[in-house]
Amino acid sequence: MGGVGEVRARMGSRMELHTLLALVLAAGLTATSSGQAPTARLRQAAVPTLGVHELALAPASVHWGYYDARLAPAVRVASGDRVRVETMVAGGLQRLRLAGVPESDIPESLKVVERSVTERGPGAHPLSGPIFVEGAEPGDTLEIRILAIDFLHPFGVNAFSPGGGVLPDDFPYAQLKVLRWAPGAARVEFTPGLTLPLAPFFGSIGVAPPPLVGRISSRPPGWHGGNLDNKDLVAGSILYLPVHVPGALLSIGDGHALQGDGEVTGTALETSLRGTFELRVRKGARLRWPRAETPTHYIAMGLHEDLNEAARLATREMVDFLVAEKKLSRDDAYMLCSLAADLHVTQAVDATKGVHAMLPKAVFSTPAGARRDP
Ligand SMILES: [Zn+2]
Repeated sequence: MGGVGEVRARMGSRMELHTLLALVLAAGLTATSSGQAPTARLRQAAVPTLGVHELALAPASVHWGYYDARLAPAVRVASGDRVRVETMVAGGLQRLRLAGVPESDIPESLKVVERSVTERGPGAHPLSGPIFVEGAEPGDTLEIRILAIDFLHPFGVNAFSPGGGVLPDDFPYAQLKVLRWAPGAARVEFTPGLTLPLAPFFGSIGVAPPPLVGRISSRPPGWHGGNLDNKDLVAGSILYLPVHVPGALLSIGDGHALQGDGEVTGTALETSLRGTFELRVRKGARLRWPRAETPTHYIAMGLHEDLNEAARLATREMVDFLVAEKKLSRDDAYMLCSLAADLHVTQAVDATKGVHAMLPKAVFSTPAGARRDP
């Protein structure tokens, strides 16, 4: 990353003061650490165009419950830059407090955002951003590489409430459960003798809708991405979103410590996360729907109120991907989906439901003569 002057030069006039301070701080920290490690400084010098931006959790960088093209950017970055983004638990502090989490366990930055961001809704997600990516124009694709994810606090909450989830008639009341884990632990105890693997991901990663659409809720996912609640988008994954406005205006939130496909109570293990992302503009690569990949799989998505229709969309998206990117015939692509792709119910609780198709990348690289595992 460059020096402070270079960072300032890259920033637009609409930058918030806190972002400037965060960038100056980040530049200072980088300078200090590179001063102690000459090899690290040499490595940085070899990639002078790569910027790293900090988006700390603060009221001016949070919008709550919606995506909107009219929002002023919280930070501006160049294509290829990295951004470290802090996000606050969905629904704010209410569920944590109702579940009995002591005030002393809640980081101060979350309390400040809870107190200060009073314009909320219609959705429940505090979103960090928007991030303006220079050069992104409608019709382009934004490539979001999820490099690292860590926790802002070592606990999360699951809940159900009347009218929500897939079994609202069976559970017409509210319940909360806080799960705590040891810092650095791989698993969390659900009940004595029953543990679950921590697999953090961001439930919501979305771009601004076209200005014509106005403000949209953060609840249903859609062509802007948003509340995908896709548990496969862990660190090491890449999400591709269609760009609808100049700069893309990317926002991120809804940290999940873990979740099952379907998200049946309507909530995951809701928590606050810090993510490191690398953002890149793919010019002219127009997508209709979000796509993704993990280190091992390609992912195509279908989003619709009707799960049958969502399954149809996800399959069609995977067929289109295989024809366009892997040069298969449409007939072969359809049959390959039947033989090798798995359809997952991403979530069935966000009004617009999700199905995602996952196809192993290994089918393209494993020779037919490879021996069966014993
Ligand atoms: Zn969530």
